Amino acid sequence: MSVIDYQKIFHHIVAGFKDDDDCGKVATYIPELANVDPKKLGIHLTTVENNHFCFGDSNEKFSIQSISKVLSLTLALKVVGEEVWDRVGVEPSGSAFNSLVQLEYEKGIPRNPMINAGAIVICDFLLSCLDNPKYELLEFIRKISGIASIDYSVKVAESEVQTGFRNYSLANLMKGFGNIDNDIEAVMDLYFHLCSIEMSCKELAQAFLFLAADGINPIINETVISPGRTKRVNAIMQMCGFYDEAGEFAFRVGLPGKSGVGGGIVAVHPGKYCIAVWSPKLNKNGNSYRGMRVLEELTTKTQLSIF
Ligand code: GLU
Repeated sequence: MSVIDYQKIFHHIVAGFKDDDDCGKVATYIPELANVDPKKLGIHLTTVENNHFCFGDSNEKFSIQSISKVLSLTLALKVVGEEVWDRVGVEPSGSAFNSLVQLEYEKGIPRNPMINAGAIVICDFLLSCLDNPKYELLEFIRKISGIASIDYSVKVAESEVQTGFRNYSLANLMKGFGNIDNDIEAVMDLYFHLCSIEMSCKELAQAFLFLAADGINPIINETVISPGRTKRVNAIMQMCGFYDEAGEFAFRVGLPGKSGVGGGIVAVHPGKYCIAVWSPKLNKNGNSYRGMRVLEELTTKTQLSIF
């Protein structure tokens, strides 16, 4: 049984926000993402005992963007296995999520599966192994979360195609190095759909709860991956989940997590809970400004993190 009143803590944290805390900018490089209300703020924490604590717009669906890269990696570990690591690394990138420079130096092998290039290689794996990857990926996410209504946003996926020049460049560069097997259009179609998934904070906290519970979603008693692989996914989130700000997130928050340019962040306290925060304005590194603040204050006020 949880004895911490997280609900009260959330109210305290948000009440402490000042006007100058309302900084950052909503992502506009994918036009469809610019249509969100910048003032939104949602928080949902689900404990491994199935207790729920929420705040604000926690039931509103938003574009989870790169948060979904954790789920595509999880599926790839299930269907491909350890072979994944022959073509994607496990090191933090220390550069932007869509950087081409590092990829050129490192001969088309992405640093990790949390940056765009790494997730594109994961999509290539899924295309090679699954009969209907777009459908099976979505079904996998619905199954491990127990939420049948999770879906892609066709509008966001189309918006990404129209402005996805850098992502196409990453895929082509990797194809040039022999690290993409399938047709570029097919790989990018899966990648852009992966990014377009919409979920609420509540749904995210439930879908990622297996990472807090040794690979089993305790709410629906669904085994997702083994404890060993859960450790690996959490380790990758810890080292690589926040673009070139992963060190800062570990320093300030002290939990494994993953952010997306839609303003969402998911963080996991193994053995305790999963939390999702959504606030669309991003800091200069592409992470939700208030999302980082909420999580920093949470682990400070509870004096509980993995460190
Ligand atoms: N769809 C975004 C892109 O490929 C994902 C970026 C992110 O959330 O990190 O640029």
